[in-house]
Amino acid sequence: MKLLVTGGAGYVGSVCAAHLLGAGHEVVVLDDLSTGHRDAVPTGATFVEGELGAAAGDVLAGGRFDGVLHFAARSLVGESVEKPERYWDGNVVASFRLLEAIREHAVPRLVFSSTAATYGEPDQVPIAETAATRPTNPYGASKLAIDHMMTSYANAHGLAATSLRYFNVAGAHLGDGHRLGERHAVETHLIPLVLQVAAGTRESISIFGDDWPTPDGTCVRDYIHVDDLADAHLLALEHATAGRHDIYNLGSGHGFSVLEVVETCRRVTGHPIPAVVAPRRAGDPAVLVAAGDRAAEQLGWKPSRTEIERIVSDAWEFTRHR
Ligand code: UDP
Repeated sequence: MKLLVTGGAGYVGSVCAAHLLGAGHEVVVLDDLSTGHRDAVPTGATFVEGELGAAAGDVLAGGRFDGVLHFAARSLVGESVEKPERYWDGNVVASFRLLEAIREHAVPRLVFSSTAATYGEPDQVPIAETAATRPTNPYGASKLAIDHMMTSYANAHGLAATSLRYFNVAGAHLGDGHRLGERHAVETHLIPLVLQVAAGTRESISIFGDDWPTPDGTCVRDYIHVDDLADAHLLALEHATAGRHDIYNLGSGHGFSVLEVVETCRRVTGHPIPAVVAPRRAGDPAVLVAAGDRAAEQLGWKPSRTEIERIVSDAWEFTRHR
């Protein structure tokens, strides 16, 4: 297939682009490099530097595309609370322009990078796709708004639309001559922050609360390897059906606590990694774990890199050799 990958210079987008190329697809990456990196665009992809809302139409006009994988987004929860306008504009308005370009150029498929943040504080864990969507910040709300737009375009215009709701993406893609991992200018995610301590660029890791209602008192999250996540995107492309909007949670169904993650990082890196208990972070739910049955049953997706040691060692390999 000929595919447009928006945000293909970012972490998840670049890894998915590498998997798509590996599977023999033709890939055009569109990225404004606001948070991505030019050298993360995998070899073999055509790169177009441009802002999503402004450039998507021109790119899609330039050839018959079979699908779009849409990763370009603003994704900092805290920033979304402080500066919501960036999220309504950068995520919702820009994605609307993309959808209009998709409609104008009759692109049949769209796979979207959605998030577990669309659910907000869950009533029940593990979280199924049927759970209520009550995002607790503008980031999650903006992603949910895009999901709603996609449903309406599937119904009205026959788009084959799929939203993949990621839980905690981690690890790195190390195969096929590429080394692609997390390198955000503003890092907020647990595993890369802990590994910064092991790499000597940060003194200690703060543990945001140790009095949560969990077995060891720290928050529990469902960490999914970025290569498993990419596999799901390829399956989603294959299974996309005209006139339907399908939503799938992507997680392993198994949770690890913050302390378990820190201890795993100590084992993998051999570094003592000093940890300091800090106050709870606003908006953090105690436990977020996916019920992954729908992706397993309907896409045939089964994550295979679910060991936390594996996820952390790949991230560490990436961090060490950057
Ligand atoms: N966390 C932490 N210290 C940090 C960063 C994160 O204790 O410096 C915790 C955070 O409170 C959450 C978990 O680690 O319980 C995962 O956070 P992350 O930001 O990686 O992902 P989120 O679950 O917020 O999407």
